[in-house]
Amino acid sequence: MNIHEYQAKALFEKFGVPAPKGAAAKTPEDFINALAELPEGPTMVKSQIHAGGRGKGVFTDGYKGGVKFCKTKAEAREAATRMLGNTLVTAQTGPAGRKVQTVYFTVASDIKKEYYLAILLDRAASRPVIVASTEGGVEIEKVAHETPEKIFKVVIDPAYGIADFQVRDLVSGLGLAGAEAKNAARLIRALYGMYWDTDAAMVEVNPLITTGSGEVLALDAKVSFDDNALFRHPDIVALRDLNEEDPKEIEASKHALSYIALDGNIACLVNGAGLAMSTMDIIKYFGGSPANFLDVGGGASKGQVVAAFKIILGDPNVKGIFVNIFGGIMDCNVIANGIVDAVREVGLRLPLVVRLEGNNVEAGKATLASSGLTIVSGDSMADAAQKIVKLVA
Ligand code: GDP
Ligand code: MG
Repeated sequence: MNIHEYQAKALFEKFGVPAPKGAAAKTPEDFINALAELPEGPTMVKSQIHAGGRGKGVFTDGYKGGVKFCKTKAEAREAATRMLGNTLVTAQTGPAGRKVQTVYFTVASDIKKEYYLAILLDRAASRPVIVASTEGGVEIEKVAHETPEKIFKVVIDPAYGIADFQVRDLVSGLGLAGAEAKNAARLIRALYGMYWDTDAAMVEVNPLITTGSGEVLALDAKVSFDDNALFRHPDIVALRDLNEEDPKEIEASKHALSYIALDGNIACLVNGAGLAMSTMDIIKYFGGSPANFLDVGGGASKGQVVAAFKIILGDPNVKGIFVNIFGGIMDCNVIANGIVDAVREVGLRLPLVVRLEGNNVEAGKATLASSGLTIVSGDSMADAAQKIVKLVA
């Protein structure tokens, strides 16, 4: 689960990670109250969307910059008026962009130098890793590609936590000394504490800055959490912004279905993630294009199958449905009954190809055959895939 920068900055405050003072606003009326919390002077206006590259982004009406430096609060209010409700396109949003529904005002900092700092889980090492670079602010992917020697990593022992020598390595690797080194060390410890205590998947600060007066501040914040640990963080779940998520994916998560929207026209309903992947592959192989990834899980109920049908039919691009079930734990007849109920309930008019195999398959096939519905059955995965590709062509 991802959160916005302004929410991440609130967590930073709680965990003692220094960042510029800021205030968020969701309506033009809120601009005045939010700005009243900040001193008069140079102010940043920052579009809040779940995507990076905002500074270099362009709005669909031509307005340039999703992050703007303003000399005064009056200027900041004008910039916020242009951003709120407008759609921002960045390198990470895709061409459709994202509608800005919150703006964040912060006191503008006097940047001496920009650095990069992130903490994430290294799956290969099974340990948290801190990634740092003296080349912050710009896209870190470019630095990683062109000058990888400028990025360094410190792997943390999760049982011990971050050690003093590791903090010193990070600080000296960033070339900091004196008061800056002391402040950076404190910030790194606090950031690691937040990463650990919140079960974060990633905490990225780009840029981390030093200022003219020797401060070290987190200027930007991108934070995501491990979904499997959210059950123990109701305060973090409360930060979820459903505006930033695909409505079909939200509906799917309510029914414990794993659904990911894609841009093809053949909807897939499959049990098991591996089979769902190979189903998408075989559709492609025979010249079609999948509209989604959908795994109903090992032991789906009839209700889940009906919910799954409704979700895939909510996508206007869908021209046909391919149900591919291998019954292991799953009883094929449960799926068959779910399909029949769903087709009746939604009044399906699109071609539907079903391939059932495994546990209780004969009963499942009999249920489909006696339903009186037009359901094309596939003898094998390849046969079924070819049939659905032909039917939507
Ligand atoms: P992003 O483009 O989505 O990564 O948004 P950031 O919050 O990282 O802002 C983009 C860039 O704007 C930063 O790399 C800085 O160069 C600049 N910027 C952000 N905040 C400030 C600030 O307080 N003062 C100044 N002078 N520049 C800032
Ligand atoms: Mg940034």
